Parts: sequence; structure tokens; C-alpha cells
Amino acid sequence: MKLVRYGEPGEEKPGLIDENGNIRDLSNVVPDIEGHTLSPEGQEALRSLDAAVLPQVSGSPRLGPCVVNIGRIVCIGLNYSDHAKESGMAEPEEPVIFVKACAATGANDDVTIPLGATKTDWEVELAVIIGRRAQHVREADALEYVAGYAVANDVSERAFQHERGGQWTKGKSCEGFAPLGPWLVTADEVGDPQALRIWLEVNGKRFQDGSTADQIFGVAHVVSYLSRFMVLHPGDVIMTGTPAGVGAGIKPDPVWLKPGDKVRVGIDKLGEQNQRFVAFEDNSKAGA
Ligand code: ZN
Repeated sequence: MKLVRYGEPGEEKPGLIDENGNIRDLSNVVPDIEGHTLSPEGQEALRSLDAAVLPQVSGSPRLGPCVVNIGRIVCIGLNYSDHAKESGMAEPEEPVIFVKACAATGANDDVTIPLGATKTDWEVELAVIIGRRAQHVREADALEYVAGYAVANDVSERAFQHERGGQWTKGKSCEGFAPLGPWLVTADEVGDPQALRIWLEVNGKRFQDGSTADQIFGVAHVVSYLSRFMVLHPGDVIMTGTPAGVGAGIKPDPVWLKPGDKVRVGIDKLGEQNQRFVAFEDNSKAGA
């Protein structure tokens, strides 16, 4: 199943994509695409529906983030050896983790370059959405805790990340830095999460072109590993790292995003995102 949330920001309704690619409204069936809806029982209930009898949504509404009420967005750093190398870092012996402390946004929403930013960068990532409470889960069982997958862009401000002291969260958490979607594809439909092509283009030029086969720590390991340090809940999101080709890694000179840039982001089976990067507008004086 492909699950979506459609409508204006803050007013999205849940839906699913039918076999003809149309959105069918789920708002009379589930409260939203969130924790319980993504549990094994919740998914089973959705699977038993006949999509053809659900109201068809007309037009092409905006798609919001494909999950709501996300408890946390946990990210894995340096999880592809070619990206660790371009970052001048050693391949980690255990997963590097950090938190993205912003709300997820729609796949095609504009992304604002933050006030004071000078080094805004991109990172295509396979996002894992948790479907069951996970604590001390064995790696062999870990994929049973995954509800589905989505495309994510782990947008990063490198100056905040590396030049302002401390760890990485400052450069990862600006408003709009977590486009997620267009849809959540349930795990059964994706199959092996380590066999997906993953790519990103800026203004039509392909910068990242990798495969999740090259992850140092695969999805099962990451879910199991995190579950030893924190409890994962349905609706939590894990961004599993990015392959080589981020702006910071371009030689001889890095490439940073500027207003007007268009970023296209995709993963096999999971669809694609199209974002326009825009300048920060100071709204604090509005109405003054
Ligand atoms: Zn990342």
C-alpha cells in the first residue's frame, strides 16, 4: 500500500493511492497516517478495504509529510563508506546517531534557507517508519518492526553543523529540513530495503547516485541497534544516511544551495520529491 496525507499544511487528510494512481480518502476510516494506523493490526484493517468504494480525491492536492505525530526523527550519520570518505571521516565502527528536531514537511514543499545560513546542503536518505514498539529487538526480527519506507531529504546547514560547536543537531533541525514522502510505501511492497537505487539532482544535474546495498549498517541492524538505546514507537522515523555526492563533498569547491535552486530526490519504489529552495523572509515585522 501507498499511504499519503493530502491537503493544505495542518489540514491534511489521510489517503491511499489506488491501483490507478488516484488518491482515495481514508478520513472516514482512520484518524490519520500515524502510530496506530501503521501497526500490524492497523495495516491489516486497511488491506481488507476495497479501495474502489472509498471516495476518490479529485485534482492534484498538495501532499503533506506522509506520517504525522512523529515521536522522533533519528538519523544515522556516515552510513555509506563513499560518503564517509568524501566527508574526511573514518568509517564508523558503530552507527553514528543524531536527532533531527524539526517537523517533517511535504515532499514538494518549498524549503527555506535559514536566516544566517551559508552552507545549505542536501542528503537523499531512505526513511524507515516504525510500526511496532521496539525495545531490545534482535537483528533477525528487526524488519518486523518496520511499517514502511519513504524518501527523505536530510537537509543540512553545514556551517551550523560543523562550525558552531558541539554535535550535529544544530545544523539538521531548521524548519523545513525534513521533507518526507510523497507517500509511505508499506514494507511488504518494498521487499528488500538493501536493494534500492537512491539518487538526487540539483537543477537537473545528478549529484548523488547510489544504492542502499552500500549502507554500512543496513536497516535491520539500525533498528535493532537503536532499540538497545531508546524505545522506538509506531510512527517514529529513522533516516538511514546518505551516499556520496553531497554539496560539501564536491571537489575542489563545495556547492551550496541558493534561493531558486530546484532539488529532485528519488528512491526506487518510493517515488520522488521536488523542492524549491527559497530565501528566508523575516516575518517578525509583519503587521508592525
Ligand atoms: Zn543524513
